[in-house]
Amino acid sequence: MVEPKEIPLMEKIVSLCKRRGFIFQSSEIYGGINGFWDYGPLGAELKRNVKELWWNTMTRQREDVAGLEATIIMSPEIWKASGHVATFSDPMIDCKTCKGRFRADQTNEIPCPQKPSKLVSECHGEKTAPRAFNLMFQTYVGPVQDDSSIAYLRPETAQAIFAQFKNVLETSRQKVPFGIGQIGKAFRNEVTPRNYTFRSREFEQMELEFFIKPDEVIEAISGSVATVPETGHPGEPQPDWGWQAWHQYWVEERVRFYEGIGLDRSTLGFHRQTPAELAHYARACVDILFKFPFSKRDEQGNVAGDELEGIAARSDFDLSQHARFSGKPMGVFDDELRGAWGKLPKEKQDDLWKRYYDNRKNYLTKSGVEAEPASKQATEDANGLAKGQYIPHVIEPSAGVDRLILALIANAYSEVVKTDDKGKSETTFVMKFHPRVAPIKVGVMPLLKNKPELVAKAIAVRDLLRPWMNVYYDDGGSIGKRYARQDEAGTPFCVTIDFDTLGEKPELLDTVTLRHRDDGRQDRLKISELRDWLLERVR
Ligand code: ATP
Repeated sequence: MVEPKEIPLMEKIVSLCKRRGFIFQSSEIYGGINGFWDYGPLGAELKRNVKELWWNTMTRQREDVAGLEATIIMSPEIWKASGHVATFSDPMIDCKTCKGRFRADQTNEIPCPQKPSKLVSECHGEKTAPRAFNLMFQTYVGPVQDDSSIAYLRPETAQAIFAQFKNVLETSRQKVPFGIGQIGKAFRNEVTPRNYTFRSREFEQMELEFFIKPDEVIEAISGSVATVPETGHPGEPQPDWGWQAWHQYWVEERVRFYEGIGLDRSTLGFHRQTPAELAHYARACVDILFKFPFSKRDEQGNVAGDELEGIAARSDFDLSQHARFSGKPMGVFDDELRGAWGKLPKEKQDDLWKRYYDNRKNYLTKSGVEAEPASKQATEDANGLAKGQYIPHVIEPSAGVDRLILALIANAYSEVVKTDDKGKSETTFVMKFHPRVAPIKVGVMPLLKNKPELVAKAIAVRDLLRPWMNVYYDDGGSIGKRYARQDEAGTPFCVTIDFDTLGEKPELLDTVTLRHRDDGRQDRLKISELRDWLLERVR
């Protein structure tokens, strides 16, 4: 694999992001702070749009998903149960010569301290042996700073969902299969933040935990578990879906989400984790990758991409861990299962009982429970099936907001070289965002600033659209300059109020020029139709 040292495209993107107010270095006036980034006016709008689209698609528009907004600091017991206290670490090494600290698996190239988008070779000094470095940020709760007051900034949003599973189940009137979605900040003290915002120390996640019935329960109720092809969308959810169908469903739903905001399938890559890569409790994990400008290329120039989102089938690990650590039951009661179980032939009951028992015992022993208590607990769990009880399994689509923003920016970035009559050429930039994510949906401009009738009409159009979408009013400079400014901001449409709007040609009274960003095409549209025309495209 070849990792390009110079990344001119990335540098151009970083510079445009700063110049146009998409992304700034955090605390820049004090020299910045490594791994932290701020979103400027355009970036903040872009981010808000992305999160709102995710929230709408994943929760509001579905019958089977409820939302949650939990705190960033939670009981430290949560991170013991999840395994983060014991194992959420990266191997870290120190260089005895330059005193730098690096991730052991990423030593050959590091981000340049002056230009984080550029990778530079690291010094070849002698290194210490790798040591585990826990990525959680630690703090103290309350006035006394000792071991009893240690708390952590959450390194992922998922755990709060598991910890609140029972409360959501009881208050939302949902029944398995159903999901809980959450968007929020996560913090990881990454050893070497790199690739601009791609690996930050403070970032946002959009996570769904979708709870499903274990395959043994599906088999008891439906007779068998549906088989699905490993690729392609399996269609509308069915009662006989087991974890494989649900997992495949969520991978494809997430790809559709990305396609719906302008990331064509060809810009994405997929990585199905191998059994060696999978966590012991996970059944499968597919990472959706985006082909970033900094993504590694092989000798033939093929690029796989870097992770945008991981979709994991996590079995019943998470709820089971919280049940064990909190002492509170995390299982559910399913009337349909209880009814179906009693009608099953004895051999079928025995077969399902044994498979459920084996899975539970396997989980318990792998989690450190001694053989004897593990078999006792697994027996109790498997006996629960007959009473309609089980611990739900989970499919987890977990996406990073900031990585998606970076992907959308890289995908939108394009340069247009214009040559004038004298042969002088100039490069302009167009951010070709999908209208659904574009920070500004429409630019509204009077043709001339010094004609009060044009200005008054333009302001009326701005005010007509403003309650519905983000509008930018601009009357400064030539109309060409104003269009160029909106192109750089990625505004998909511009509306110009000219003399025809005022009725110079009577048949064009109360119509405006509508300019399309990507091809410069101009249409004439009635003001009375403008709002609906735009809404159809930007929502
Ligand atoms: P990676 O292997 O790249 O470190 P991960 O597998 O640890 O990522 P997860 O724990 O699965 O990531 O987190 C889910 C999502 O959160 C990732 O797909 C990514 O989009 C986002 N994410 C994780 N770590 C970071 C980070 N340091 N900066 C920005 N986004 C992140």
